[in-house]
Amino acid sequence: MDQERDRLKNLEDDDRRYIWHPFTQMQEYEQEAPVIIERAEGVFLIDIHGKRYIDGVSSIWVNVHGHCQPEIDRALKEQIGRVSHSTLLGISNVPAIQLAKKLVEITPPGLEKVFYSDSGSTAVEIALKISFQFFQHRMGKSCKKTRFVALTNAYHGDTIGSVSVGGIPLFHDLFHPLLFPCDFAPSPCCYRCPLEMTYPSCSLACADELEKTVRRVHEEAAALIIEPLIQGAAGMLVAPPGYLARVREICTRYDLLMIVDEVATGFGRTGTLFACEQEGVSPDLLCLAKGMTGGYLPLAATLTSQEVFDAFLGPYEDFKTFFHGHTYTGNPLACAAALASISLLERDGVLPGFQEKIRYLSGELDPLKEFAHVGEVRQKGFMVGIELVMDRATRKPYPLKEKIGHRVILEARKRGMIIRPLGNVIVLMPPLCIEKDRIREMVEITGASIREVTE
Ligand SMILES: *Cc1c(COP(=O)(O)O)cnc(C)c1O
Repeated sequence: MDQERDRLKNLEDDDRRYIWHPFTQMQEYEQEAPVIIERAEGVFLIDIHGKRYIDGVSSIWVNVHGHCQPEIDRALKEQIGRVSHSTLLGISNVPAIQLAKKLVEITPPGLEKVFYSDSGSTAVEIALKISFQFFQHRMGKSCKKTRFVALTNAYHGDTIGSVSVGGIPLFHDLFHPLLFPCDFAPSPCCYRCPLEMTYPSCSLACADELEKTVRRVHEEAAALIIEPLIQGAAGMLVAPPGYLARVREICTRYDLLMIVDEVATGFGRTGTLFACEQEGVSPDLLCLAKGMTGGYLPLAATLTSQEVFDAFLGPYEDFKTFFHGHTYTGNPLACAAALASISLLERDGVLPGFQEKIRYLSGELDPLKEFAHVGEVRQKGFMVGIELVMDRATRKPYPLKEKIGHRVILEARKRGMIIRPLGNVIVLMPPLCIEKDRIREMVEITGASIREVTE
């Protein structure tokens, strides 16, 4: 018994002593009781004390079929018995080939080639570098298409290139001197419309603004990058219907490559396999990561059109090669997990059955809309943002220093659920496999936690 108590105490001490946690103010983390996960089962995470928590944000937006899913576990064990890693630099491996073929089959038409990497940020860096290099090859030395267009409130990752196209001041402003220049158009978010208009009477004025930006800079712009349907990290900001399709038209009209960042939305999260499908959009480049392995291993992919790929072909001495590649590119274990996860998603009835769960979740969320301090409940499939406000009438936000979101998630933790807020927005993003009873429990815990902190 004492030995077990010592083991737990040591883990807690060593966590504080040795780990620098991401997106975490460590001075405050040290004051809080740590949650140290030891095991998991389905939609539950289990800590070292044996306490069970609903995994309400899919372990940061990655888990799809639950933890310890038998078929993904089996695929990984079989692959470990064959080979765990071998490079894709100049040679190939079996799961990487099978997965590339599968990704080309299931993604929107026109995407023909798969470039692997290992995180959402690298998938975005690669898309940006490919777009830049594409125009260098196509237009030669005089090429002026070297810039990018992005949206305010955008989040595309934490590396310097992906931060350059990011539009969240709290995360990105400090690094401004390090970033390459980017032209920003207004975020298509209706609750706090940057143009102070109302949908639908606005007739998508935000898309008109984007078009103005693109018209002004298109001779210098190589590509536009966008999170389709919903800007995730900014607080689950849902774009008005038709916006994404308009962006596709604008990119085509002004000769910009369209990069769609489906790192968060991919693999069913918004109700369709990919969010682009909902507006019939085929991008020129598509970034995938988070849900690709079902939440098991780091893996990412940047898909491109044949036209983009072909611009890089030529004799070696023309130096049109794409000189880029991360060490663990196309890792066979990660690819095997992704193949198993996708085959579960493709199983009969999974996505159709998921529509029913999405509707059920909407119904459960309805009562929260009446809470005194809930400004808006936003939902796209299984991506939910509940924005807390001081005053519903004026939409006055809580000051960030009140850490209202953080206080709510600590309450949820006491009640048996792990979630993570985005500022004043409470995020719910459960694994797709979650059952209705657990959905109800998840929303009940959320409601009780919000009431406890705000009323
Ligand atoms: C999480 C995220 C990224 C970055 O992915 P990492 O794997 O954390 O590097 C990029 N784009 C979007 C839309 C994301 O949600």
